[in-house]
Amino acid sequence: MILDGKAVSDRIIEGLKEELAKRGSKPYLAVILVGNDPASRVYVRNKKKKAEYIGVKTDIFEYPDDVDESVILNKIDELNNNSEITAILVQMPLPAHISKEKVICKISPQKDVDCFTPENVGRLSAGLEPYFYPATPQGVLMLLDAYNIEVEGKHAVVIGRSNIVGKPMAQMLLRRNATVTICHSKTKNLEDIIKTADIVVSAVGKKIVRCKMVCKKSVVIDVGIYRDSNGNLTGDVDFNEVEPVVEYITPVPGGVGPMTIASLMCNIVKS
Ligand code: NAP
Repeated sequence: MILDGKAVSDRIIEGLKEELAKRGSKPYLAVILVGNDPASRVYVRNKKKKAEYIGVKTDIFEYPDDVDESVILNKIDELNNNSEITAILVQMPLPAHISKEKVICKISPQKDVDCFTPENVGRLSAGLEPYFYPATPQGVLMLLDAYNIEVEGKHAVVIGRSNIVGKPMAQMLLRRNATVTICHSKTKNLEDIIKTADIVVSAVGKKIVRCKMVCKKSVVIDVGIYRDSNGNLTGDVDFNEVEPVVEYITPVPGGVGPMTIASLMCNIVKS
C-alpha cells in the first residue's frame, strides 16, 4: 500500500484551519531568511503560504548575504522578547560568516518550532518533553499513525544521522519502543542490516534502498528528496522495484514532504 502523505497532510491542514478559526488568539510566525538561495526562498514561500492558509499571521524578515551576524542575533532577541510572536524559524543554510550555532542557541526554546535549540534537542534525547518535536520525524510518525502501523517492538533501521532527520527520527522511534539501528556513510554491511528491518527510514539523498533489501512485510519510508541526473525529483528508494514487494511505502514526491509541512504547522499552532 502506498502511504499517501499528501492526502494525510491535507486532512491535518484542514483540521488545523478549523481549529484556528474557532480560537480567539492566533499564532504569529516570524521567519528569518538570509541571502538569495533559490531553494531556501521556495521553502520559505511555501511555509508562509501554508501558515497563512490555516490562519497564522506570518512575517518574513529578509537580509542580504553579507548581513552582519550581530544584526541576526539582535533580531532574534527582539523576536524572543516580543510576546505577540509565538514561533520563530530561521531558514538554513546561513552564509558561512554567520555562526549557525550562535543563531540556534539564541532562539527561545518556547518559540523553536523547528526543534533546533540545545534545550529542545536535549529534552528529546533525555526522554523529557521538548516544547516541539522536529517536523520531519514527527511527520513520519504521524503518517505511520494515520495508517495504524505499529511501531512498538519493531526493528526500525534509520539510514542517515543528521541532526534534523536521522538522529531525532531514531530517538522518536525509540520513544515509541521500536528497536532502532542507525546507519550512516561508514556503516559496514548496510544491505544486510536493512534486510533485518521491519521499518526502514531512509534519509540520505542518494539511491540506497533496492528490492533485494526488503520483503513483503517491510514498511519503507523515503525521506530523501533530490533531483536525479535528468532533473526529476526522486528519493532514496528505488520505488518502481521496491513498491511491488513491500507492505507499505511512501512515494517521492507526495510522501514525507507534505507530512513535514503538516507537522510544522502543528508545531506553529501549538506555539
Ligand atoms: P545530510 O545532513 O546530508 O545527512 C545525510 C546522511 O546520510 C548522513 O548521516 C550520511 O552519513 C548518510 N549517508 C551518506 N551517504 C550514505 C551511504 N552511502 N550509506 C549510508 N548513509 C549515507 O542530509 P539530511 O538533511 O538528513 O537529509 C537527507 C535527505 O532527506 C536529503 O535528500 C534531504 O533533501 C531530505 N529531506 C527531506 C525532507 C522532507 O521533508 N521530505 C526533510 C529534510 C530532509 P555521515 O553522517 O556518515 O556523513
